[in-house]
Amino acid sequence: MRRIIHSYRIVMRMILIRTAALAVVVTLAASTLAACADAETDAVAVATTTPLGSVLSDIATCAGGRSSTLMGPGDDPHTFSASSAEVAGMAEAGLVFANGLGLEEGLSSALAGAAADGATVVEIAPLVDPIGFAEDPHGDEGEHADESGEDPHFWLDVARMARAAEVMGGVLADETGDDAYRACGETVRDALLETDAEVREILAAVPDARRVLVTDHHSFGYFALAYDFRVAGVVIPGGSTDAEPSSAELAALVEVIRETGTPAIFSNTAAASSLVDAVAAEAGTDVTVVPLYVGSVGPEGSGAETYSGMMVTNATLIADALG
Ligand SMILES: [Zn+2]
Repeated sequence: MRRIIHSYRIVMRMILIRTAALAVVVTLAASTLAACADAETDAVAVATTTPLGSVLSDIATCAGGRSSTLMGPGDDPHTFSASSAEVAGMAEAGLVFANGLGLEEGLSSALAGAAADGATVVEIAPLVDPIGFAEDPHGDEGEHADESGEDPHFWLDVARMARAAEVMGGVLADETGDDAYRACGETVRDALLETDAEVREILAAVPDARRVLVTDHHSFGYFALAYDFRVAGVVIPGGSTDAEPSSAELAALVEVIRETGTPAIFSNTAAASSLVDAVAAEAGTDVTVVPLYVGSVGPEGSGAETYSGMMVTNATLIADALG
């Protein structure tokens, strides 16, 4: 009996210790949350997409400031929509870097709302010499000749993202009055130009005849132009991820894949589509589906968690698939 009582006391003591530990954990979690909330408030600017957010974070960190990013790894910028707290966060930061040219289809009213609440919303794509969908190197298929307007997917050309870094640094310096942001924009630009050279070096392994891309949606126009590839076809028609191909379009694409003899179709980690797998299966057993980081950086540990890492990873995956 005595022994049982003794054990009971130990159990009670353990429960008390655990309760105390839990209280400490809860307190820590609450203060961490408070710190995060402060960080959001302290953010010098908010970026909408993860590629822009990664570059903005490098500039802000270099200048001793903080930034935040609306989307998370794996979010598709075409379909992402913000919570009301996130919309309030954008207005609070006062400066928002958006991709623009219609990329953030689910955010248009949120961005308009942030601007109406006094935030400066800077769309980056129109500032880095955008190309039209029709100007993209499609080869002779003319598949998207009917598409009009400018292509928002500028970040898939690293040299254009380097220019974006310089633009963001300049805007930050003007908005804050702190010239460190301008210098840091230039530092990050130079680092990205090194990444661009690294991407070119990796892609040099792909022979001319195999520089053919078939992708999930029409997003590789800038990449093709910058790195000398040809976009032979896309699974989802148009410049967004939310369209539906007709069966005739899919059959035509399967024919293009067979004719070009391309060994891979590149899918999108931010917008998985079973249609991509279906097209690959239809085209032949030797056609593999290779997921690329198209709309978003990758999760922690993927090697693609930063914008630079994302582009080097993409280049490596493309070179491995086509080289
Ligand atoms: Zn896209």
